[in-house]
Amino acid sequence: MSAPLPLEIENLSRSFGPVHALRDVTLSVPPGSIYAFLGPNGAGKTTAIRCILGLIRNDAGTVRIAGHDLRKQRTRALASVGAVVETPALFPNLTGRENLALTARVLNHDRAEVERVLEVTEMREAADRRVGQYSLGMRQRIGIARALLGQPRLLILDEPSNGLDPAGIRDMRSLIKALPERENTTVFMSSHLLSEVEQTATHVSLMRKGSTLFSGSLDALAALQPASILIKASPRQEVVDLLENAGFDVAVRDESLQLTHASETGPDTVAGLNRSLVEAGIDVHELRLSKAGLEEMLLRMAHDPEGGEP
Ligand code: ATP
Repeated sequence: MSAPLPLEIENLSRSFGPVHALRDVTLSVPPGSIYAFLGPNGAGKTTAIRCILGLIRNDAGTVRIAGHDLRKQRTRALASVGAVVETPALFPNLTGRENLALTARVLNHDRAEVERVLEVTEMREAADRRVGQYSLGMRQRIGIARALLGQPRLLILDEPSNGLDPAGIRDMRSLIKALPERENTTVFMSSHLLSEVEQTATHVSLMRKGSTLFSGSLDALAALQPASILIKASPRQEVVDLLENAGFDVAVRDESLQLTHASETGPDTVAGLNRSLVEAGIDVHELRLSKAGLEEMLLRMAHDPEGGEP
Protein backbone atom coordinates (compact mmCIF):
# COMPACT_ATOMS: atom_id res chain seq x y z
CA MET A 1 0.00 0.00 0.00
CA SER A 2 1.32 3.48 -0.81
CA ALA A 3 2.01 5.96 2.02
CA PRO A 4 -0.93 8.22 2.96
CA LEU A 5 -0.92 11.71 1.51
CA PRO A 6 0.40 14.52 3.75
CA LEU A 7 -2.97 16.30 3.51
CA GLU A 8 -6.36 15.39 2.10
CA ILE A 9 -9.44 17.57 2.41
CA GLU A 10 -12.87 16.38 1.35
CA ASN A 11 -15.99 18.53 1.05
CA LEU A 12 -14.86 20.93 3.74
CA SER A 13 -17.54 23.51 4.57
CA ARG A 14 -17.76 26.23 7.18
CA SER A 15 -20.15 29.15 7.55
CA PHE A 16 -20.14 32.15 9.82
CA GLY A 17 -23.82 33.07 10.10
CA PRO A 18 -24.95 33.80 6.54
CA VAL A 19 -21.37 33.86 5.16
CA HIS A 20 -20.21 30.64 3.47
CA ALA A 21 -16.49 30.96 4.19
CA LEU A 22 -15.84 27.47 2.73
CA ARG A 23 -18.09 25.43 0.46
CA ASP A 24 -17.27 21.81 -0.34
CA VAL A 25 -13.54 22.31 -0.63
CA THR A 26 -11.80 19.14 -1.81
CA LEU A 27 -8.09 18.77 -2.50
CA SER A 28 -5.20 16.30 -2.24
CA VAL A 29 -1.69 17.44 -1.46
CA PRO A 30 1.00 15.15 -2.93
CA PRO A 31 4.16 14.39 -0.91
CA GLY A 32 7.09 16.72 -1.59
CA SER A 33 4.90 19.36 -3.21
CA ILE A 34 4.66 23.07 -2.49
CA TYR A 35 0.93 23.53 -2.54
CA ALA A 36 -0.41 27.07 -2.65
CA PHE A 37 -3.84 28.07 -1.60
CA LEU A 38 -4.38 31.17 -3.70
CA GLY A 39 -7.19 33.68 -3.61
CA PRO A 40 -8.10 37.29 -2.90
CA ASN A 41 -8.93 38.60 0.58
CA GLY A 42 -12.01 36.90 1.95
CA ALA A 43 -11.68 33.84 -0.33
CA GLY A 44 -11.57 31.50 2.67
CA LYS A 45 -7.84 30.68 2.91
CA THR A 46 -7.39 31.47 6.59
CA THR A 47 -10.62 29.71 7.51
CA ALA A 48 -9.42 26.57 5.70
CA ILE A 49 -6.04 26.68 7.46
CA ARG A 50 -7.73 27.15 10.83
CA CYS A 51 -9.95 24.12 10.12
CA ILE A 52 -6.95 22.02 9.04
CA LEU A 53 -5.14 22.89 12.27
CA GLY A 54 -8.21 22.14 14.38
CA LEU A 55 -8.35 25.76 15.62
CA ILE A 56 -11.99 26.00 14.55
CA ARG A 57 -14.51 23.28 13.75
CA ASN A 58 -15.72 22.66 10.25
CA ASP A 59 -19.48 22.28 9.72
CA ALA A 60 -19.01 19.40 7.29
CA GLY A 61 -16.32 17.43 5.47
CA THR A 62 -13.12 15.68 6.52
CA VAL A 63 -9.47 16.64 6.98
CA ARG A 64 -6.83 13.89 6.95
CA ILE A 65 -3.23 14.69 7.84
CA ALA A 66 -0.73 11.94 7.02
CA GLY A 67 -3.71 9.56 6.84
CA HIS A 68 -5.11 10.50 10.27
CA ASP A 69 -8.63 11.85 10.45
CA LEU A 70 -8.50 15.17 12.30
CA ARG A 71 -11.79 14.56 14.07
CA LYS A 72 -11.20 10.93 15.11
CA GLN A 73 -7.39 10.91 15.59
CA ARG A 74 -6.74 14.53 16.45
CA THR A 75 -3.48 14.08 18.40
CA ARG A 76 -1.88 11.87 15.77
CA ALA A 77 -3.02 14.14 12.94
CA LEU A 78 -1.68 17.28 14.60
CA ALA A 79 1.60 15.57 15.56
CA SER A 80 2.36 15.31 11.82
CA VAL A 81 2.07 19.03 11.12
CA GLY A 82 4.07 22.16 11.90
CA ALA A 83 2.55 25.57 11.26
CA VAL A 84 3.21 29.28 11.20
CA VAL A 85 -0.07 31.15 11.29
CA GLU A 86 0.14 34.94 11.26
CA THR A 87 3.20 36.51 12.92
CA PRO A 88 4.76 33.81 15.10
CA ALA A 89 4.37 34.46 18.85
CA LEU A 90 7.92 34.57 20.23
CA PHE A 91 9.48 35.89 23.46
CA PRO A 92 11.19 39.15 22.40
CA ASN A 93 13.65 39.18 25.32
CA LEU A 94 14.95 35.70 24.56
CA THR A 95 17.31 34.89 21.71
CA GLY A 96 16.21 32.88 18.69
CA ARG A 97 18.03 29.82 20.03
CA GLU A 98 16.45 30.21 23.50
CA ASN A 99 12.96 30.52 21.97
CA LEU A 100 13.51 27.31 20.03
CA ALA A 101 15.02 25.52 23.04
CA LEU A 102 11.96 26.39 25.09
CA THR A 103 9.57 24.86 22.55
CA ALA A 104 11.89 21.88 22.05
CA ARG A 105 11.78 21.19 25.81
CA VAL A 106 7.97 21.37 25.91
CA LEU A 107 7.71 19.03 22.93
CA ASN A 108 10.40 16.68 24.27
CA HIS A 109 12.92 17.16 21.47
CA ASP A 110 16.63 17.15 22.27
CA ARG A 111 18.92 20.16 21.82
CA ALA A 112 20.42 18.76 18.61
CA GLU A 113 17.03 19.28 17.01
CA VAL A 114 17.29 23.02 17.77
CA GLU A 115 20.66 23.21 16.01
CA ARG A 116 19.28 21.25 13.07
CA VAL A 117 16.34 23.61 12.45
CA LEU A 118 18.60 26.66 12.87
CA GLU A 119 20.81 25.23 10.14
CA VAL A 120 17.88 24.39 7.85
CA THR A 121 16.47 27.93 8.07
CA GLU A 122 19.94 29.53 7.86
CA MET A 123 19.43 31.28 11.21
CA ARG A 124 22.57 30.03 12.97
CA GLU A 125 24.45 33.32 12.79
CA ALA A 126 21.55 35.31 14.25
CA ALA A 127 20.58 32.64 16.79
CA ASP A 128 22.12 34.41 19.80
CA ARG A 129 20.49 37.75 19.16
CA ARG A 130 17.31 38.71 20.95
CA VAL A 131 14.20 38.13 18.88
CA GLY A 132 13.05 41.68 19.70
CA GLN A 133 15.91 42.91 17.50
CA TYR A 134 15.02 40.66 14.55
CA SER A 135 13.58 41.92 11.28
CA LEU A 136 10.16 40.58 10.32
CA GLY A 137 11.84 38.21 7.85
CA MET A 138 14.07 36.80 10.60
CA ARG A 139 11.10 36.37 12.94
CA GLN A 140 9.32 34.47 10.16
CA ARG A 141 12.36 32.22 9.70
CA ILE A 142 12.58 31.47 13.41
CA GLY A 143 8.84 30.75 13.32
CA ILE A 144 9.44 28.29 10.49
CA ALA A 145 12.40 26.79 12.38
CA ARG A 146 10.13 26.22 15.37
CA ALA A 147 7.45 24.64 13.17
CA LEU A 148 10.09 22.26 11.77
CA LEU A 149 11.07 20.87 15.19
CA GLY A 150 10.50 17.12 15.05
CA GLN A 151 10.48 17.06 11.22
CA PRO A 152 6.72 17.19 10.54
CA ARG A 153 5.46 15.58 7.34
CA LEU A 154 3.47 18.71 6.58
CA LEU A 155 4.39 22.35 7.06
CA ILE A 156 1.58 24.92 6.89
CA LEU A 157 2.42 28.57 6.29
CA ASP A 158 -0.22 31.30 6.30
CA GLU A 159 0.85 34.10 3.93
CA PRO A 160 4.59 33.59 4.58
CA SER A 161 5.64 36.63 2.52
CA ASN A 162 3.15 39.07 4.02
CA GLY A 163 4.75 42.36 5.05
CA LEU A 164 8.28 41.42 3.92
CA ASP A 165 10.46 43.77 1.88
CA PRO A 166 11.69 42.61 -1.58
CA ALA A 167 14.89 41.07 -0.16
CA GLY A 168 12.89 39.30 2.57
CA ILE A 169 10.42 37.99 -0.03
CA ARG A 170 13.30 36.63 -2.12
CA ASP A 171 14.89 34.91 0.91
CA MET A 172 11.55 33.43 1.97
CA ARG A 173 10.99 32.15 -1.56
CA SER A 174 14.32 30.36 -1.68
CA LEU A 175 13.80 28.87 1.80
CA ILE A 176 10.34 27.53 0.91
CA LYS A 177 11.61 26.08 -2.36
CA ALA A 178 14.43 24.28 -0.56
CA LEU A 179 12.28 22.81 2.23
CA PRO A 180 10.71 19.74 0.57
CA GLU A 181 14.12 18.31 -0.27
CA ARG A 182 16.06 19.58 2.76
CA GLU A 183 13.44 18.46 5.26
CA ASN A 184 11.68 15.68 3.37
CA THR A 185 8.45 17.57 3.99
CA THR A 186 5.51 19.02 2.09
CA VAL A 187 4.58 22.69 2.20
CA PHE A 188 0.99 23.92 2.18
CA MET A 189 0.79 27.71 2.15
CA SER A 190 -1.79 30.40 1.62
CA SER A 191 -1.02 33.41 -0.49
CA HIS A 192 -2.66 36.23 -2.37
CA LEU A 193 0.59 37.03 -4.23
CA LEU A 194 0.34 35.58 -7.73
CA SER A 195 3.96 36.14 -8.64
CA GLU A 196 5.16 34.38 -5.48
CA VAL A 197 2.95 31.38 -6.13
CA GLU A 198 4.06 31.28 -9.75
CA GLN A 199 7.70 31.21 -8.73
CA THR A 200 7.41 28.87 -5.75
CA ALA A 201 4.52 26.43 -5.97
CA THR A 202 4.21 23.10 -7.77
CA HIS A 203 0.47 22.83 -7.09
CA VAL A 204 -2.29 25.31 -6.55
CA SER A 205 -5.90 25.61 -5.44
CA LEU A 206 -7.54 28.72 -6.78
CA MET A 207 -10.12 29.97 -4.27
CA ARG A 208 -12.96 32.36 -4.79
CA LYS A 209 -15.74 33.09 -2.29
CA GLY A 210 -15.16 29.85 -0.41
CA SER A 211 -15.07 27.56 -3.45
CA THR A 212 -12.17 26.11 -5.41
CA LEU A 213 -12.09 27.05 -9.08
CA PHE A 214 -9.21 24.68 -9.75
CA SER A 215 -7.06 22.27 -7.75
CA GLY A 216 -4.04 20.51 -9.18
CA SER A 217 -0.52 20.96 -10.48
CA LEU A 218 0.55 24.18 -12.17
CA ASP A 219 1.39 22.06 -15.23
CA ALA A 220 -2.16 20.70 -15.33
CA LEU A 221 -3.50 24.23 -15.01
CA ALA A 222 -1.31 25.44 -17.87
CA ALA A 223 -2.42 22.50 -20.03
CA LEU A 224 -6.05 23.61 -19.61
CA GLN A 225 -5.23 26.97 -21.16
CA PRO A 226 -5.01 27.24 -24.94
CA ALA A 227 -1.59 28.49 -26.03
CA SER A 228 -1.51 31.40 -28.42
CA ILE A 229 1.04 32.70 -30.91
CA LEU A 230 2.24 36.29 -31.01
CA ILE A 231 3.40 37.63 -34.33
CA LYS A 232 4.75 40.89 -35.74
CA ALA A 233 4.80 40.84 -39.54
CA SER A 234 4.03 43.08 -42.50
CA PRO A 235 2.17 44.00 -44.60
CA ARG A 236 -0.47 43.67 -41.88
CA GLN A 237 -3.61 43.05 -44.01
CA GLU A 238 -1.94 40.36 -46.12
CA VAL A 239 -0.79 38.65 -42.94
CA VAL A 240 -4.29 38.73 -41.41
CA ASP A 241 -5.83 37.30 -44.60
CA LEU A 242 -3.29 34.49 -44.79
CA LEU A 243 -3.74 33.58 -41.15
CA GLU A 244 -7.52 33.60 -41.25
CA ASN A 245 -7.47 31.41 -44.37
CA ALA A 246 -5.25 29.00 -42.43
CA GLY A 247 -7.97 28.70 -39.74
CA PHE A 248 -6.55 30.99 -37.03
CA ASP A 249 -8.55 33.42 -34.92
CA VAL A 250 -6.67 36.69 -35.15
CA ALA A 251 -6.79 39.47 -32.56
CA VAL A 252 -4.90 42.75 -32.93
CA ARG A 253 -2.72 43.57 -29.86
CA ASP A 254 -0.92 46.93 -30.35
CA GLU A 255 1.94 46.18 -32.76
CA SER A 256 1.35 42.42 -32.71
CA LEU A 257 -1.27 39.93 -33.77
CA GLN A 258 -2.35 37.25 -31.32
CA LEU A 259 -3.44 33.96 -32.84
CA THR A 260 -5.34 31.04 -31.47
CA HIS A 261 -6.26 27.88 -33.30
CA ALA A 262 -8.94 25.31 -32.62
CA SER A 263 -6.41 22.46 -32.79
CA GLU A 264 -3.43 22.15 -30.47
CA THR A 265 -0.90 24.94 -30.81
CA GLY A 266 2.74 24.06 -30.19
CA PRO A 267 6.28 24.64 -31.47
CA ASP A 268 5.48 22.73 -34.70
CA THR A 269 2.63 25.15 -35.42
CA VAL A 270 5.05 28.08 -35.02
CA ALA A 271 7.62 26.52 -37.37
CA GLY A 272 4.96 25.70 -40.01
CA LEU A 273 3.50 29.19 -39.77
CA ASN A 274 6.91 30.79 -40.21
CA ARG A 275 7.47 28.77 -43.37
CA SER A 276 4.08 29.74 -44.87
CA LEU A 277 4.63 33.43 -44.14
CA VAL A 278 8.13 33.53 -45.60
CA GLU A 279 7.01 31.58 -48.68
CA ALA A 280 4.23 34.15 -49.17
CA GLY A 281 6.88 36.92 -49.24
CA ILE A 282 5.88 38.37 -45.86
CA ASP A 283 8.46 40.01 -43.58
CA VAL A 284 8.37 38.32 -40.15
CA HIS A 285 9.77 40.56 -37.39
CA GLU A 286 8.76 38.44 -34.41
CA LEU A 287 7.02 35.10 -33.93
CA ARG A 288 6.63 33.23 -30.67
CA LEU A 289 4.49 30.84 -28.68
CA SER A 290 2.86 32.55 -25.72
CA LYS A 291 1.71 30.64 -22.62
CA ALA A 292 -0.73 32.33 -20.29
CA GLY A 293 0.76 33.39 -16.93
CA LEU A 294 -0.96 32.51 -13.67
CA GLU A 295 -2.65 35.91 -13.53
CA GLU A 296 -4.20 35.49 -16.96
CA MET A 297 -5.23 31.90 -16.18
CA LEU A 298 -6.82 33.03 -12.94
CA LEU A 299 -8.78 35.75 -14.70
CA ARG A 300 -9.98 33.30 -17.33
CA MET A 301 -10.99 30.78 -14.64
CA ALA A 302 -12.85 33.43 -12.70
CA HIS A 303 -14.91 34.23 -15.79
CA ASP A 304 -15.47 30.60 -16.71
CA PRO A 305 -17.80 28.88 -14.25
CA GLU A 306 -17.02 25.52 -15.89
CA GLY A 307 -13.31 25.87 -15.09
CA GLY A 308 -12.66 23.24 -12.43
CA GLU A 309 -10.90 20.03 -11.56
CA PRO A 310 -8.71 18.64 -14.33
P1 ATP B 1 -7.79 37.24 4.16
O1 ATP B 1 -6.51 37.13 3.45
O2 ATP B 1 -8.44 38.59 4.04
O3 ATP B 1 -7.77 36.72 5.57
P2 ATP B 1 -9.00 34.75 3.46
O4 ATP B 1 -9.03 34.19 2.09
O5 ATP B 1 -8.08 34.17 4.43
O6 ATP B 1 -8.81 36.31 3.34
P3 ATP B 1 -11.04 34.25 5.42
O7 ATP B 1 -10.38 35.08 6.47
O8 ATP B 1 -10.98 32.78 5.56
O9 ATP B 1 -10.52 34.65 3.97
O10 ATP B 1 -12.58 34.72 5.34
C1 ATP B 1 -13.55 34.11 4.51
C2 ATP B 1 -14.91 34.75 4.78
O11 ATP B 1 -15.37 34.36 6.08
C3 ATP B 1 -14.89 36.27 4.77
O12 ATP B 1 -16.10 36.72 4.21
C4 ATP B 1 -14.81 36.62 6.24
O13 ATP B 1 -15.41 37.89 6.50
C5 ATP B 1 -15.60 35.49 6.89
N1 ATP B 1 -15.11 35.19 8.26
C6 ATP B 1 -13.92 34.63 8.57
N2 ATP B 1 -13.79 34.46 9.91
C7 ATP B 1 -14.93 34.92 10.45
C8 ATP B 1 -15.45 35.01 11.81
N3 ATP B 1 -14.74 34.59 12.85
N4 ATP B 1 -16.68 35.54 11.97
C9 ATP B 1 -17.42 35.97 10.91
N5 ATP B 1 -17.02 35.90 9.63
C10 ATP B 1 -15.79 35.39 9.39
